[in-house]
Amino acid sequence: MRILIAEDEKKIADFIKRGLKEEGYAADIAHTGTEALDLAEENPYDLLLLDVMLPGLDGVAVCSRLRASGFAGPILMLTAKDRVEDKVRGLDSGANDYLTKPFAFEELLARIRVLLRARPEEASSVLKAGKIEIDLAAHKASFAGRELDLSAKEFSLLEYLVRNKDKIVTRTMIAEHVWDINFDTGTNVIDVYINYLRRKLEKGPAGKVIRTVRGKGYLLKS
Ligand code: CA
Repeated sequence: MRILIAEDEKKIADFIKRGLKEEGYAADIAHTGTEALDLAEENPYDLLLLDVMLPGLDGVAVCSRLRASGFAGPILMLTAKDRVEDKVRGLDSGANDYLTKPFAFEELLARIRVLLRARPEEASSVLKAGKIEIDLAAHKASFAGRELDLSAKEFSLLEYLVRNKDKIVTRTMIAEHVWDINFDTGTNVIDVYINYLRRKLEKGPAGKVIRTVRGKGYLLKS
């Protein structure tokens, strides 16, 4: 899943990006409100992390504009401590949730997981497709009960395929949701990672779990 971090304090932005990357998320950084709007218009982010205090256009204004232009994805607002009016303005402008700075990174991750759940009322953070089970909270994946030893990127790719099970996903879709803005579309990195995953999934008598759809992309059948 790909996240946009709108935060003008470079240290905090880099820290969040690094932490998200370790969890297998792809993340881009915007340092101003207008940059956040531009990036969100160009890229299909799965979630926005929006600091309220941004130079120029603040987080609340960015949030309202995005909602007005039809952005329907989850927005998590970062607010300064004790600024109740920020929280209220944030939620009123269309944010789904807020987190007060400074925050524990674990809490940020937990809130992101909640917001990314396909159906918010789902109590569990486990995704399933056939024999594949992904526990997002524990960051573990298994196939037919056998735990898979995956890198952060492999985990993230598998998560994307499972969330889109029984649908054809194109390489562009994968690039847009699993890799960040620096992804070089001229490479075969995605195919390489698909093959890594296949090797790990298809060790046993599993048959083809991830199918190649010629000229289109990939399909994970549940
Ligand atoms: Ca700030």
